[in-house]
Amino acid sequence: MTNRRPYRHILILADIEGSSGCGSYRASSFLTRSWATACAAMSLDVDAVVKALFKAGVRRVTVKDFHRTAHNLLPEMIDRRARILSGYRQGPVPGLGDPEDADAVMMIGMHAAAGTGGFLAHTLTSRLAGLVVNGRPLAEVELFAASLAPFGIPAIFFSGCPIACHQARKRIKGIRTLPIDKTIAPAHLDAVSWRQTLSQAAVRSLSDNAAAPYRLDGPLQAVINIRDGTVVAAKMADPWGFRRSGATVYINAATFHTLYEALIRLCYLSPLADKTLPYSLMLYNWIGWLGRQWVRRHLKTRCRR
Ligand SMILES: [Zn+2]
Repeated sequence: MTNRRPYRHILILADIEGSSGCGSYRASSFLTRSWATACAAMSLDVDAVVKALFKAGVRRVTVKDFHRTAHNLLPEMIDRRARILSGYRQGPVPGLGDPEDADAVMMIGMHAAAGTGGFLAHTLTSRLAGLVVNGRPLAEVELFAASLAPFGIPAIFFSGCPIACHQARKRIKGIRTLPIDKTIAPAHLDAVSWRQTLSQAAVRSLSDNAAAPYRLDGPLQAVINIRDGTVVAAKMADPWGFRRSGATVYINAATFHTLYEALIRLCYLSPLADKTLPYSLMLYNWIGWLGRQWVRRHLKTRCRR
């Protein structure tokens, strides 16, 4: 028995690597044919979960696209009752914006932490060969869950490759996971029944009561290895004044928020882009929007053939 009130507003963070249509790095890459197909499959995965959540009594579902340009989901393929957020916002939650009155977060289509051997494992960008914080690899599930903790939002459900699921369960107490077998190529996966299993597992997580907001308390010491070596590491880290030795960057942060901001700068921004962030974001979001138009055109011509 629990006296916790039921979750009314669910926030879904959706990525592509651990979704049902992504079988290769190419299928996660901007403007490739296999990416267009993966976008459609990712949208159907989200649709299945959204429908099941509403059926289970959830009143509101917000879906945030969190892969690359954040314009992968095709809203026309997803139940119209859900609100789909594309593109990135500056804050208060980096990338997401305002989580409003979300009661809990679910993450689907996810992947494992950089350098840990899961399917297309990475953290924030594939340019990081490894990201270790306080002695252990840091996965995006922790970054996203910790960024929502100040709003009292627990992470209750996660789906991705088996290694990603294992990492999520190890780090986030009470999270329910559902793995996807990435050894099966998307063309051979029975996506319809997998989506059913996925959405049933998501619904079951609504009645779990062990989940609490995930806090990552400081001080935090990050050791980051840049995949492409010293020159690239210098380009990424030196403009920010981060301590660096060869291809290894060191960031010490007193709080989680400071660490997350530093990682975003290292991985995605130049000081100029940071100074003009509202405009850089607008430009980036516009490119993403154009990319999604390309996906629609590609899917249409493929259907006509
Ligand atoms: Zn992704």
